[in-house]
Amino acid sequence: MLRLLLNSSKNNLFNNMAKTICDWSKKDLLKHPEKLHALTREACFFCKKCGRVANTKKALCKGEAFAAQSSKIAKVDFAA
Ligand SMILES: [Zn+2]
Repeated sequence: MLRLLLNSSKNNLFNNMAKTICDWSKKDLLKHPEKLHALTREACFFCKKCGRVANTKKALCKGEAFAAQSSKIAKVDFAA
């Protein structure tokens, strides 16, 4: 009954994927470029903290709308 606690860090990494693109590591970006594309296509929000952009506020840690002009926000399910 040997359990390697170190393996749990892999799960944490995976859970972080479902957070914001601000939290993605370089590895995550390279692993899921299609997700990044889906979230950043026609971006109308930007992150006040780190400057990333997305088409949904939920994908950013400090999301802010570029302008109140576009209501054409694609709904993207990025919850893994
Ligand atoms: Zn951010």
